[in-house]
Amino acid sequence: MQAHTFHIKWGMVIDIDKCTGCGACMVACQAENNVAPVTEASNKLRTLSWMLVYQLSNKQDFPNHDVAYLPRPCMQCGHPSCSTVCPVVATTKDEEGGIVSQVYPRCIGCRYCMAACPYHARYFNWHDPVWPEGLDKVLTPFTSVRPRGVVEKCTFCHHRWMAAKEKARHEGHDPSHLAEDAYIPACVDICPTGAMHFGDLLNPEHEVHKLSKSPYAFRLLEKLGTDPQVYYYSKREWVRRQGDNYLKHEKTKGE
Ligand code: SF4
Ligand code: SF4
Repeated sequence: MQAHTFHIKWGMVIDIDKCTGCGACMVACQAENNVAPVTEASNKLRTLSWMLVYQLSNKQDFPNHDVAYLPRPCMQCGHPSCSTVCPVVATTKDEEGGIVSQVYPRCIGCRYCMAACPYHARYFNWHDPVWPEGLDKVLTPFTSVRPRGVVEKCTFCHHRWMAAKEKARHEGHDPSHLAEDAYIPACVDICPTGAMHFGDLLNPEHEVHKLSKSPYAFRLLEKLGTDPQVYYYSKREWVRRQGDNYLKHEKTKGE
């Protein structure tokens, strides 16, 4: 349940038709947020990937075969199933902007939130974080390192928002009315094809507001009622169909 009305809703629109699946967003996210590499990386249940790029296929044979790549951050859901099940209020959606928080010192590691998240966007630290020799010297001071036993997830690079507000204050601007490009998460910043857009979904002047209204825009598993703040965009109908598990007889918005 969303307890607050927001005046800003930070959101993403990811253009699937522009994404090449290069994985730069995954790497940028890992570096920006001090996400430790996991030694048993082949065990997908134990890896940590706040941003994960999935490959989709239309399951047709050549020459009709087609693939698409779908980057998946935390959806910062309007009705987050993760926060409603947390017994210790370690994850909430109560800050202006609508980013779902994760308070590491409060998390008791019960993993209810992981079970509740339909997007598999949460990760449990099975081990203490260990970086290969030398890499520990490039840890960013902006994000705390998480210990074994707590859950973590994408925060839309919340620290970048704090920095943007601080900069605005120093420059004498209103920190609650940031320019469109003043706050951008690392994944959006790095994307070489410009597939990812970021901004305030409620601001009609922001690109994400316009893109999210397109008939080609869709959200993952929208029918569950989670109200994600991450939108996808594709002119390919089969991609939109897979996004929300459309049945054969159902029409997507773009049809
Ligand atoms: S694992 Fe942590 S954040 Fe998740 S429900 Fe349990 S206490 Fe809350
Ligand atoms: S994607 Fe998952 S972790 Fe993120 S807000 Fe939604 S339910 Fe919570």
